[in-house]
Amino acid sequence: MIQSSTESPASLAIAHQGRSLTIATTATGLKTLIPFCIGHSAPLLIPQKLQVEAEQYTATGLQTVTYSGSLRETLPQYWQTYDQLVFALATGAVVRLIAPLLNHKATDPAVVVVDEAGQFAISLCGGHQGGADRLAQQVAQYLGGTPILTGAANHRNLSGIDVVGEPFGWVKGGGDWTGVSSAIAAGQAVQVVQEAGSDLWQQHLPPDHPFQWGWPEVSGAAVLPKPQARVWISPIQRQFSPGADLPKVQWHPRVLWVGLGCERGTDLALMELALSQVCQAHHLAKAAIAGIASLDLKADEVGLVQLCQDHGWPLRCFSAEELQAILVPNPSSVVNQAVGTPSVAEAAAITAASTTNPASLRVQKQVIRHPDYAGAVTLAIAEAEQEYTGRNGHLWLVGTGPGNLDQMTPAAKAAITGADAVVGYRLYMDLIRPLLRPGQIIEAMPITQEQQRAERAIELARWGLSVAVISSGDCGIYAMAGLVLETLQAQGWEGHSPTVEGVPGISALQSAAARVGAPLMHDFCAISLSDLLTPWAVIEQRLRAAAEADFVVALYNPKSQQRTEQIAIAQGIFAQHRPANTPVALVRAAYRPDERIIVTTVQAMLDHPIDMLTTVLIGNRSTQLYAGKVITPRGYRVN
Ligand code: SAH
Repeated sequence: MIQSSTESPASLAIAHQGRSLTIATTATGLKTLIPFCIGHSAPLLIPQKLQVEAEQYTATGLQTVTYSGSLRETLPQYWQTYDQLVFALATGAVVRLIAPLLNHKATDPAVVVVDEAGQFAISLCGGHQGGADRLAQQVAQYLGGTPILTGAANHRNLSGIDVVGEPFGWVKGGGDWTGVSSAIAAGQAVQVVQEAGSDLWQQHLPPDHPFQWGWPEVSGAAVLPKPQARVWISPIQRQFSPGADLPKVQWHPRVLWVGLGCERGTDLALMELALSQVCQAHHLAKAAIAGIASLDLKADEVGLVQLCQDHGWPLRCFSAEELQAILVPNPSSVVNQAVGTPSVAEAAAITAASTTNPASLRVQKQVIRHPDYAGAVTLAIAEAEQEYTGRNGHLWLVGTGPGNLDQMTPAAKAAITGADAVVGYRLYMDLIRPLLRPGQIIEAMPITQEQQRAERAIELARWGLSVAVISSGDCGIYAMAGLVLETLQAQGWEGHSPTVEGVPGISALQSAAARVGAPLMHDFCAISLSDLLTPWAVIEQRLRAAAEADFVVALYNPKSQQRTEQIAIAQGIFAQHRPANTPVALVRAAYRPDERIIVTTVQAMLDHPIDMLTTVLIGNRSTQLYAGKVITPRGYRVN
């Protein structure tokens, strides 16, 4: 099968994180930024005089854009076209350059500044909403530096209140965002009234977070400090009076599905008017609209299609047969005669909003006409239990290497730091803890729940989140990658939603080999001795074949507390085919604090402790031990 791929892994990641431009004005700055430019598919803007310098790096895949004249004159043309700008320049220079361009934190790009040596990545502005904090952390992973985040929430191990809803596609509503953020930064109590949307963010807060949930019971009120700010998370549109006693803000999860029926040729303006009127009358925020639902006959209705395009709303259409089956408060026999279902607006709203449980109507059928516009609109609104994120999810299948952060690729670190959610086995989560960000959804599960981990990661990604599934070593070697892809396959995944990207890691056989010398210099294979998922007869047959064929062999999962026989059988097989003094390395917990390495022989290997954290490397017939190093000759004539 020939496969063509138009998207590079980096561009997959970008689709999720926004477009970045990097900027350097010196040869050192240019060189410093390269790992990030390559890993993130970010072009590098340089003055013309650095062009020759940059050409040295063409083989790395570096893309450059040159400018003549001054950077001050050049920058404005890139300010609005990129979401993220990374400068290798003095902070003072960057501040002066961007000062005239700054407009609003909701629309300005994220700005990160890196020192020439790449030791620090400073989130300069657009920290929360622009994503500069997250970007600075990713840049630091690529450069092997330290991210500098100065937002007050970071010290409290919290993400900003103005970004908590982002992964779930919530829309920021009105309110005093600065006031509420200041209260949180000052450690004051903040009341959260969440009437809709996911509460996942609540479950991943530090223990000393400042939030109080809902309205306190009268009896408990005395013990809680009085809230100094309030956060509403709701489809309701609230008007906050300027002189209010405390600062308030509102997030709008997109939970409202608008069922819409109309006469042929109804004006777009009438649809807009109808929506505004109904939302206003019921105090609903237009920002909380997930999308529009209708009858399949309306899929090409010009005004309706335009309405959805203008607002970025999905249009979900259902057949008369589907809609007919829905119980509605206001069925109509006239409608039934015309289109074959007694309800369009109410039935479509309920159908679009229902998941496992049928959704309830917030607004029953309303018919709206206006003398100035052609046509008529019928509207109903249902509320979904789960919000529509409007985002295409992404799955990173990440290998975290043997366990030491130093042995992990910058791409793997950046994926983990950048993801909305990280899913993995508890022990590995502890090993990578320094990479995790405040506000990230961290789901650590026990070792036996691989299938649940795969399903959970897919569920989050299908919903629209970017999810890093982590495995030790490489994610595709006796690990999660295959299971995730098989599960997607079983679900009929079509390849794009979510997008999936593997991020390789150093597997145990490589780590173990590096620790003991060069045992894998000739043909080798890996065999797992775990017979949980593979029948023992198959494993034994492969052991025999590998032993006979003189492969160097790496044994994974060699022995557990319950499974002790297998390693003895394996030893017996290799003893038949290899000299008794063939070197064997028992490498336990490579690159972790409790590492233990024993180099022994095929004959004596069972005299030493072997457990589930050990990789056993068995040499071939020519493998030797010299000065403490295991060496398998490649066949070079070495003098
Ligand atoms: N995906 C992992 C393998 C997981 S299977 C990888 O590519 O390395 C689990 C087995 O890997 C363990 O039983 C042990 O045999 C081996 N292993 C994992 N980490 C190891 C380490 N740090 N040192 C030695 N062996 C390790």
